[in-house]
Amino acid sequence: MDTKTFRRLGHELVDWIAEYRDRMGDLPVMSPLEPGDVKRLLPSQPPAKGEGLAGLTGDLDRVVLPGITHWNHPGFFAYFPSNSDLASVLADLACAGLGAQGMSWQTSPAATEVEEVVMDWLRQMLGLDAAFTGVIQDTASTSTFCALLCAREWSSAFGQARGGMQAEEAPLVVYASDQAHASVEKAALLAGFGRNNLRLIGTDDQHALRLDLLERAIQEDLAAGRRPCAMVAAIGTTATTAVDPLEGMGRLSADYGIWLHVDAAMAGTAMICPEARWMWKGIEEADSLVLNPHKWMGTGFDLSAYFTKDPEHLIRVMSTNPSYLHTDQDGQVKNLRDWGIPLGRRFRALKLWFLLKDQGVEGLQARIRRDLANAQWLKAQVEAAGGWELMAPVNLQTVCLRHVPAGVTDEDDLRAHNLAIQGRVNKGGRFYLTPSVLKGRQILRVSIGSAATELSDVEGLWKALLDAAAAV
Ligand code: PLP
Repeated sequence: MDTKTFRRLGHELVDWIAEYRDRMGDLPVMSPLEPGDVKRLLPSQPPAKGEGLAGLTGDLDRVVLPGITHWNHPGFFAYFPSNSDLASVLADLACAGLGAQGMSWQTSPAATEVEEVVMDWLRQMLGLDAAFTGVIQDTASTSTFCALLCAREWSSAFGQARGGMQAEEAPLVVYASDQAHASVEKAALLAGFGRNNLRLIGTDDQHALRLDLLERAIQEDLAAGRRPCAMVAAIGTTATTAVDPLEGMGRLSADYGIWLHVDAAMAGTAMICPEARWMWKGIEEADSLVLNPHKWMGTGFDLSAYFTKDPEHLIRVMSTNPSYLHTDQDGQVKNLRDWGIPLGRRFRALKLWFLLKDQGVEGLQARIRRDLANAQWLKAQVEAAGGWELMAPVNLQTVCLRHVPAGVTDEDDLRAHNLAIQGRVNKGGRFYLTPSVLKGRQILRVSIGSAATELSDVEGLWKALLDAAAAV
């Protein structure tokens, strides 16, 4: 494609994106399509001859848009917020346009140095001390995988001996709560700990990890000749935003020499508001932590922030350094290929830079505070309404609730009833909720935090829930 055509189509595409964002609130938030509907619109074979991109936005309207669930929609209350602020959309365009590879400093110095600067800004915004150094990974799943690999290499003799896990006689054990995200289990399995050596510790009535059970499990493992290696504290669990006892876990980490990784994938964004930092009191004891600016903050997927206290160790674990990657600046600069798993690196830091430049810390804080207040508003409605139960503390922007009709006590009936409410609300097209099962009980999760969601949208959702509960 020549630059003249690119310019014309690019303007058309930017207009299309802007119009899409303007009218998104009028579209059904959840894609109504059935499996196979999109595939049917595309030829089964690749185009033999190039036909140009004329009609590009028409194709997007016809083939793609109906098959999009609108995560930036004001009625999006499902899963977790995943905001793609338009500033980050522009950054993604610049990133693709530059086509830069940031694997080594020399391969695009700006990609490395902008990342160093914005990750340090992020560290300051989160109130983390200078002992932490940040690097961008693609997802929290990858970040937690990196953390467990670092823990594995650090805690056993083979870190120095290079004998690998195979050289370890005592099995290494990982601990997390039974509310931890599935990415922790995946990371533990991929890092070779094995399912038998992952302990999912029971939680209290706030759905936070029980320290007494954790310490007991550590002692049992030690007594059985196993070696406690890593623990993962969830600050803001996926289901309920529960907060694990970080200070106590930090103490156990120090007492028993266990790597402490903090998964604050969604909740971490709230820490840019000092009043939310009670949630990670004790964070300075962590060896590593992850939060996803691609969730609530607004950088657009994908941009996961991984902070480590020991970058040298991360580099030791991740670097390979073949001759064809050597550069004259090695030793003076960061080669970020050695800070994670992939060799190639997109210029993701641009998204964080553009977002922060556009909104500033105060702009982001105002939006987070709005969402926190909206969640408290909904919590108050649930508490005041008869027949509704709040199922977990509202620590942040997630409200877990269920409807309990008078006289109904059977959990299967309550499950069916609440799923019917959810189904009815989702079918209406204005709102999208995802359900969850919390310790055997069906709940409805209202995850507030789409940048477009105002109090009036939360009010609308609450009315839809009341109407659905009355109707089903
Ligand atoms: N950790 C927590 C607490 C999460 O809520 C999620 C996603 O919902 C993840 C990890 C996984 O995030 P990612 O998609 O970036 O791997």
